[in-house]
Amino acid sequence: MFVDKVKVFVKSGDGGNGMVAYRREKYVPDGGPAGGDGGKGADVVFVVDEGLRTLMDFRYQRHFKAERGENGRPKNQHGKSREPMMVRVPPGTTVIDEQSGKIIADLTEDGQKAVIAKGGRGGRGNTRFATPANPAPEIAENGEPGEERSIMLELKVLADVGLVGFPSVGKSTLLSVVSAAKPKIADYHFTTLSPNLGVVETDDHRSFVMADLPGLIEGAHSGVGLGHQFLRHIERTRVIVHVIDMSGLEGRDPYEDYVTINEELKQYNMRLTERPQIVVANKMDLPTSQENLDVFREMVGEDVEIFPISAVTKQGLSGLLRSIADKVETTPEFPLYEEEQIEQRVVYKFERREDPFTISREPDGTFVIEGEEIERIFKMTDFNREDSVQRFSRKMRHMGIDQALRDRGAEDGDTVRILKYEFEFVE
Ligand code: GDP
Ligand code: MG
Repeated sequence: MFVDKVKVFVKSGDGGNGMVAYRREKYVPDGGPAGGDGGKGADVVFVVDEGLRTLMDFRYQRHFKAERGENGRPKNQHGKSREPMMVRVPPGTTVIDEQSGKIIADLTEDGQKAVIAKGGRGGRGNTRFATPANPAPEIAENGEPGEERSIMLELKVLADVGLVGFPSVGKSTLLSVVSAAKPKIADYHFTTLSPNLGVVETDDHRSFVMADLPGLIEGAHSGVGLGHQFLRHIERTRVIVHVIDMSGLEGRDPYEDYVTINEELKQYNMRLTERPQIVVANKMDLPTSQENLDVFREMVGEDVEIFPISAVTKQGLSGLLRSIADKVETTPEFPLYEEEQIEQRVVYKFERREDPFTISREPDGTFVIEGEEIERIFKMTDFNREDSVQRFSRKMRHMGIDQALRDRGAEDGDTVRILKYEFEFVE
């Protein structure tokens, strides 16, 4: 139901290129091969951080590009492989491959990790290609390209903070000025969130989910098939924010309101009174409010901390939000029922499909070869070196591409294209 979604692009690091080099020895014009291998590119790894509760951070960064492996060097020195790039996600994040729609990872436990894009392997240096027949080959591979993928992150959003208070005290106004009213949040896929639930960000970049709790409780009582989900919300709610209209303009007494609502919270019988409660004195912009606040302070005593604010003029919001975030961070959950069987979900592992190649023909007669494997081999070939080019031709032959071209009618001198590059078909 309340699902927060964000689209993210990841690319793992390419492998470093292998090197062509030779040993240099006195009086030996051409020593043996000495080109080192390229290092492995960095993986992109998602890791659960239980300190996070929303996908807010992805608003600032949606592209994750990991480091390329270092190129191989002379004297058989291998290029450095790169450490994985770690991306933190909140518990409960589901990672979905955008193209296939399949779930790649279901990240639930603190510290749980999943490789989302695997770094390319390093290309081999010329030392690795030496054979008795060709002891000093002029051939090295380029690094394997990293994986690029678009993914969707989904998080079922539960309320961390519940707003309570009499009608018209300003709960909805407060929620609207601290969440959806921020323009940046508007383009952050909040359409699926119901209007009485909002993702809030503090000015020191922490975030939490705040909801109109009476709305949720009423929903739970009316039990329109959503009862269980609503109860999960209430259970998750760690902090209660009690909003009071300090102006007393509607002929009500702020202290009486406060007592009445707390009585009601007891009656809901959902451990609501055990949670830390933050008292908000709202509508402080109105002339009668200050005097009422002084009286109210005396009635509730010094133990109750009060945050005077105005939701309308936005006074006092920053300090209030920071205090709420502090409390959310330090308060455990209040379970309402026994641990249930956690529903098992199927997680599809991402596998590289070894697609057979395809050959098509352009109107001008050019043969176009496509396929994951051949394109990867192509990118790993250094076409400046004769030996590498020959090795590439051998691979084309082994994969049956030469024969397939012939079968499609290719003749000596015809143009063949892979990716953006064109060759001549030579018999
Ligand atoms: P809710 O029923 O608790 O959700 O209350 P609303 O947010 O709907 O607010 C009720 C009325 O109080 C609206 O007319 C708001 O404009 C007004 N209101 C809310 N906060 C303030 C405030 O800080 N100052 C003033 N002057 N009016 C406020
Ligand atoms: Mg309201």
